[in-house]
Amino acid sequence: MTNRRVFILQSVIGTSALASGVVMAAAPLVAETDANAKSLGYVTESAKADQAKYPKHTKEQMCANCALYQGKAGSTQGGCPLYPGKEVHSTGWCSAYAKKA
Ligand code: SF4
Repeated sequence: MTNRRVFILQSVIGTSALASGVVMAAAPLVAETDANAKSLGYVTESAKADQAKYPKHTKEQMCANCALYQGKAGSTQGGCPLYPGKEVHSTGWCSAYAKKA
């Protein structure tokens, strides 16, 4: 193998390692104890929502089928514009839930 080939291979490997590093650096998850999460009643599992406080909540409602969820289909977590710089669980829920059309 020529030196040039080795160099190209190293460059490709280096670039893909960098790319995967970027993918792995997902935003931190919203904690139920975060101030805005508390004010919106966010929970990491829809079933844990405060039913007395949010009577319209149903356990079928969750971030994964909310119009505001920015994660890809099948993802376990994704962005939500209500929690900038953080991600929510696909199984989560908050009182701003809006059914995806
Ligand atoms: S607005 Fe929707 S996606 Fe965002 S946390 Fe609430 S239920 Fe989840």
